[in-house]
Amino acid sequence: MLYLDNSATTPLLPEVKEAMLPFLLEEFGNPSAKYYTQAINAKKAVENARSQVATVLGCDPDEVIFTSGSTESNNMILKGVAHRYQNYGRHIITSGAEHPSVLDTCRYLESEGYRVTFLEVDRFGRVRVEDLQRAIKEEPPILVSILWGNNETGSLNPIEDIAELCHEQGIFLHTDATQVVGKVPIDLSQLVGVRFLSCSAHKFHGPKGIGVAVIRKDKLGLPTPITPILGGGHERDYRSGTLPVHNIVGMGKAAELVSQRLEENSKQLWRLENRLITIFQEKFTDHIVINSDTRDKVPGIVSVQFKGVNNEVLIRNLAPKIALSTGSACSSSKPSHVLSAMGLSLEEVRSTVRFSLSPYTKEEELEVFWEL
Ligand code: PMP
Repeated sequence: MLYLDNSATTPLLPEVKEAMLPFLLEEFGNPSAKYYTQAINAKKAVENARSQVATVLGCDPDEVIFTSGSTESNNMILKGVAHRYQNYGRHIITSGAEHPSVLDTCRYLESEGYRVTFLEVDRFGRVRVEDLQRAIKEEPPILVSILWGNNETGSLNPIEDIAELCHEQGIFLHTDATQVVGKVPIDLSQLVGVRFLSCSAHKFHGPKGIGVAVIRKDKLGLPTPITPILGGGHERDYRSGTLPVHNIVGMGKAAELVSQRLEENSKQLWRLENRLITIFQEKFTDHIVINSDTRDKVPGIVSVQFKGVNNEVLIRNLAPKIALSTGSACSSSKPSHVLSAMGLSLEEVRSTVRFSLSPYTKEEELEVFWEL
């Protein structure tokens, strides 16, 4: 079975599983408890993982807040900023090609009386900086939230330019980096305009149900307040809930591995992607269209139209041999809003399949496509 749905989730690496196991068994302590050994060991493990995640993102460990994943981080940041800063304004800017956890939160905020501008995207799903500039000028927002890399097409938004613009204007920028961690370099210490970031461990061979909300400090080194998730205040008072230490340790280990292997992994993803596209072009010639920009993108995510073919029928028929999705697993029952926002017709959307690779996919396995 060839697994090509790595944007939906990835398998755990054996090293990650080994790191997690003690924290599911003997090291079961609650890191918020005190004095006794299991609690101290759990706390140390959490802080070690926090540093490992901070290293891969280029931020300080105390800016890393553990959550259950990007969905929660996106909800927490968008609502947390909107509610905390409502006296400064009620305008938010995002794009039409975001993940449902951003889009639906924005719609929810609209129902509370916020105004949301959904920027249009180009034919590869990217925001245009001029459009953002115009929207900011029309009404300065309290938050801009723009996806770093698209989960359906792999398109990269011009996040450096967007960050610079938001920084110049003194506007908070959040970016959903779920699909880019471990595939493109991230260094928040150089991207000063990004104040908030979300990601999930299971997209880079870590466990499911764990992610982070990065909440950067201001230029004086003070924490950025947002309306928190209330309770015991476990995560620096931003987020409450007993920490899943095994998952946090797993995320830390997965982050350490992607930091060490970033260059090698991204080269391998490009190699695999190019091979896949070559096979498709040779085998299917002009019966296919590549929806993704083949250069300025996250390596390893390719969106392909098979003309005249229904994507659901195709992936169902291939399922015994190849695991694929038509697009995001988070909205798989509806035609893709991302592809529609890129200007594709319903027929084109309905003939599109997403191929998402892992650096651990074997190149020779891709030859299976010749047999179709
Ligand atoms: N944002 C993006 C871009 C994603 O691809 C996903 C996962 N499909 C999420 C957010 C949500 O991640 P999770 O399901 O781990 O909360």
